[in-house]
Amino acid sequence: MRLDKERRAIVDFGRKMLTASLTTGAGGNLSVCDRKQGLLAITPSGVDYFDLSAEQVVVVDLEGQPVEGDCKPSSELGFHLALYRQRPEITAVVHTHSVYATTIACLNWELPPVHYLIGFSGHKVPLAPYATFGTEQLAANITAAIGDHNAVLLANHGLVAVGTTLGRAFATAEEIELVARIYYQACSIGEPVLLDRQEMSRVMDKFSTYGQS
Ligand code: 13P
Ligand code: ZN
Repeated sequence: MRLDKERRAIVDFGRKMLTASLTTGAGGNLSVCDRKQGLLAITPSGVDYFDLSAEQVVVVDLEGQPVEGDCKPSSELGFHLALYRQRPEITAVVHTHSVYATTIACLNWELPPVHYLIGFSGHKVPLAPYATFGTEQLAANITAAIGDHNAVLLANHGLVAVGTTLGRAFATAEEIELVARIYYQACSIGEPVLLDRQEMSRVMDKFSTYGQS
């Protein structure tokens, strides 16, 4: 099976999306890119993550042409491809409908630096303007908004996180959901105090050596 390891990882992380309450049913999608082979593995469209097998994960080339797998790829294949084209350092894209990030996105707000964990994305999480799911316009809005951030809110829709590994992109989606929840709660009882740009640069510097090397 082509991209065997990547397809199994997508099955595992798809289940984690549900157990971590980052999405429901078949909502959201995941992909992993093998830059050397010029191939990517992406979740099939509309399949519940708890029912998903590695064989159902679809393999396509970087033009989106089918290579292996009988299922129809995610309806968001277009924005996954566009992100891999724009950001040569990334090898994974995670899209969720997590409740608090999506709540902020439904207000058409960006997520500001209210907690240092926003550094998983960058200085903030920008907002991509609304476009219908699965369209070229949505892909164009996402690539224009994300810049060099690792996450972007999709207006009236959800969140996209990118990373150098699937684990990293998933962690970003999880931490940004936490920050969105904190922001929502802080806004509901007062006016949150934001971290400044200099402090966020310091945090991102420290992230580069954080944890076990
Ligand atoms: P797919 O099941 O086609 O990946 O669509 C889910 C989704 O989140 C669309 O934005
Ligand atoms: Zn979606």
